[in-house]
Amino acid sequence: MLTTPDTLAEARQRLLAWFEANARDLPWRRTRDPYAILVSEVMLQQTQVDRVIPKYLAFLAAFPTLESLAAAPTAEVIRMWAGLGYNRRAVNLQRTARAVLNDHGGTFPHEVAALRELPGIGPYTAGAVACFAFEQDVAFLDTNIRRVVRRWLVGPEDQEPTTSERQLVALAESAVPAGQGWLWNQAIMELGALICTATAPSCWRCPLREHCQAYAAWRSADEQIFNLPEQRPARPMRRVAERREAPYAGSSRFYRGRVVDALRNLNPGSHTTLAALGPLVKDEFSPADAAWLAELVVGLARDGLVELDGEQVRLPH
Ligand code: SF4
Repeated sequence: MLTTPDTLAEARQRLLAWFEANARDLPWRRTRDPYAILVSEVMLQQTQVDRVIPKYLAFLAAFPTLESLAAAPTAEVIRMWAGLGYNRRAVNLQRTARAVLNDHGGTFPHEVAALRELPGIGPYTAGAVACFAFEQDVAFLDTNIRRVVRRWLVGPEDQEPTTSERQLVALAESAVPAGQGWLWNQAIMELGALICTATAPSCWRCPLREHCQAYAAWRSADEQIFNLPEQRPARPMRRVAERREAPYAGSSRFYRGRVVDALRNLNPGSHTTLAALGPLVKDEFSPADAAWLAELVVGLARDGLVELDGEQVRLPH
C-alpha cells in the first residue's frame, strides 16, 4: 500500500505525465455529452476498443440524441447493435434513455447514486458517466482499473487473492487526485489497456513501477531465483492467471446471438415462426430441438430482445 502522501503524489504525477504523452485519441474522450459517454461505456463493457469505434460512430449517427434513441423502435436499436454481441446491452441502453427522458426530463443525473437508480446502470457505468461526463472525482472499477489498482497498491493477484471488491474500491478512491478525476481515471484505464495487461505486464516501461507492490514482489522472487538456483520457484510472471473462457460456439450465448441475427435479417416488422427459425439457428435442427429452441426464445423475450406471440417471433417494436 502507499505509505506517504509524497509517494502518492509522485505516482500520480508520473501516471498523469505518461497519459499525456501516450493517450490514444478515442472519440469518447473528445466529448462530455453524458448520452454519448453512456453509449461508449455500454459498448466497451464487453467489446474491444478497435471494434467499438466504428460501431460507436455509426450508432450516434443513427441515434444522435437521447430522445432519438428513446423514440426508436427497439428492433432498430438491436439492428444497429449487430456485430457487437451481448445484444441485451442494446435493450438496456434504450431503457436507460427512456428512463432519463421520462423520469428526469431528459437530463442525466450527475451523482453516482442517482445514476445507479436508472435501469441497466451498474456501479461501474454510474461512476464512469459521473466522471467522464460530469468530471466528478469518483472511483470505479472496470477490468483494467481493478487490475492496476490491485497490482500497484496490493500485490500480485495470486498472492493477495482475498482482497475484496470493497477494499479495492476504497483504495481506488484514495488515489483519485482532487479536481482531476476525469484525467486520472482515463489514465489508469489506459495503463491497464496498454501496459499493465492481464498476462504480460510491461513493468519496465510503467510509470508506477517504483511504487508498485506487484512489481516489487516479482522482482524479489527473481532475486531469490538468482541466489538460490536449486530452489527455483516458478517465475511470478508466468503465474499470472490467463483468462480461460468457456467455449463460445455451442454455448447458450452463441445460440441466443444466432436467434437475434436470424431475426435481424427479416424485413423490418415481419415475423417468422419457431419452426422456420430452428434451422437458421442450429445446423441439423430436428423436431427434438423444438423445446430447447422455445426455451431459448422465451429467455430472449424475457430480456426484451424478441417478441414471442405463440409460434410467431420477431424483433421487438
Ligand atoms: S509495475 Fe507492472 S504490475 Fe505494477 S502497475 Fe506497472 S505494469 Fe502493472
